Amino acid sequence: MAKSLEQMQEEIDIWAHQFEKPYFSPLSMVATMAEELGEVARVVNIIYGDKNKKDSETLKSLEEELGDLMFTIICLANEEDISLSNAHELKLSKLYGRDNNRFNKAKK
Ligand SMILES: [Mg+2]
Repeated sequence: MAKSLEQMQEEIDIWAHQFEKPYFSPLSMVATMAEELGEVARVVNIIYGDKNKKDSETLKSLEEELGDLMFTIICLANEEDISLSNAHELKLSKLYGRDNNRFNKAKK
């Protein structure tokens, strides 16, 4: 069964709290998030874009890189005491509210 966002945040929080300093500073976490986003971009660029993998390079899967990126998002949310489930609800309310007619809808 799939884990909820709350479960994922709690699992990472438990893991992080085994360390003296559970989370990096927010600025370092954002920098780490940018690094991981770059790794996602690199995989997508090699799969779909014009770049070729270096001979010496071992490319991780897009799944693994998305997991790395998600981890950094969860760490920042945890450190800032933000519920990603609430953040998701806020986003959904924008999608169905403010942005409801922003994009052409599929014909039914
Ligand atoms: Mg990565």
